[in-house]
Amino acid sequence: MLCEPPGGSLMQQARWTADGIELVDVAAGPLPEGRVRLKVLANGICGTDLHLYRRELPPLEGSVPGHEIVGVPIDGPAGLTESLYAVEPRVWCGECDFCGAGDHHLCPNGTVIGIQDAGGLAEWVDVPRPSLHPVDADVSPLVASLAEPLAVSLRAVHLTRLEADSRVLVLGSGSIGLLAGLLARDRAARVAITARYPQQVEAARRLGLEPLGESEVEAWSGEFGPDVVIETVGGFANTLAEAVQFCRPGGRVVVLGVFVGERTLNALVLMAKEIRLIGSNMYGSTRRGSEFRAAVDLMPRYRAELEPLQTHQFRLSALNDAFKCALDKRSGSIKVTVIPDAAA
Ligand SMILES: [Zn+2]
Ligand SMILES: [Zn+2]
Repeated sequence: MLCEPPGGSLMQQARWTADGIELVDVAAGPLPEGRVRLKVLANGICGTDLHLYRRELPPLEGSVPGHEIVGVPIDGPAGLTESLYAVEPRVWCGECDFCGAGDHHLCPNGTVIGIQDAGGLAEWVDVPRPSLHPVDADVSPLVASLAEPLAVSLRAVHLTRLEADSRVLVLGSGSIGLLAGLLARDRAARVAITARYPQQVEAARRLGLEPLGESEVEAWSGEFGPDVVIETVGGFANTLAEAVQFCRPGGRVVVLGVFVGERTLNALVLMAKEIRLIGSNMYGSTRRGSEFRAAVDLMPRYRAELEPLQTHQFRLSALNDAFKCALDKRSGSIKVTVIPDAAA
């Protein structure tokens, strides 16, 4: 039994314009074959969305942003279980060599819901059936909307290959940094994280991580020699160079940050220290299957620790306020989330 569609056949949807973002009323057409229409209950705003909002990366004009989506089905194939679903936004072709080898995250023909395909900053969104992951009934929609960034962090932690005695330095305590720190915490001896704003310091402490101010990182790294540095800042920061500088010889640097343009690092130091520099893009599969699925399955365990990361919620009608709050960390924001249902 599926829920009734809300508010007739018109829905509100955010779209990138030539120089901003706007809300438009669109008529919901017939549901395309193989898709499920979800009523969006929550959609988080992430660092990539902020780069697009500021035009540091170019959005596709007319496209619908939002890739941290949870919702409930309002239309779809028969037999779909009534549940809260988290949406895995990667869509892959299933036919290329990479997909054939199980590396669908490397599919060159892939798209992303909320980047190329219509996303979740809308009242409804149509997504492919395989993108849906049912969420445990004890996890609220707000917490469940952290599934996507948790999956991003989970892949990075897989790539770090942590040992029980490992020391980890996370650069950046936005939600991705904090989530990576949380997952690393349960697999490593100690995890430090750079934190700039009071809410980040507080969140890091609450998660059992060691918050470091900018002036403290070098001394901490000198003393503890992190085996792994997880870079999550990106943008215009010089954190790639710092990661290579702070990592112990023979260690690993995992790059999660979304950088804008080309960044430099000291290649001589990289070579001399034999540091492995590893890119980590969204999520893929392990022999246990989908990493996104694994992140959704971890949510009941971490839900009490995830909840305080959700600092601000906005209606769809206050979309620009949501972006501004997420952009200016002096607002106290960690994760800013849009709740479309509150738009009425
Ligand atoms: Zn994102
Ligand atoms: Zn493919």
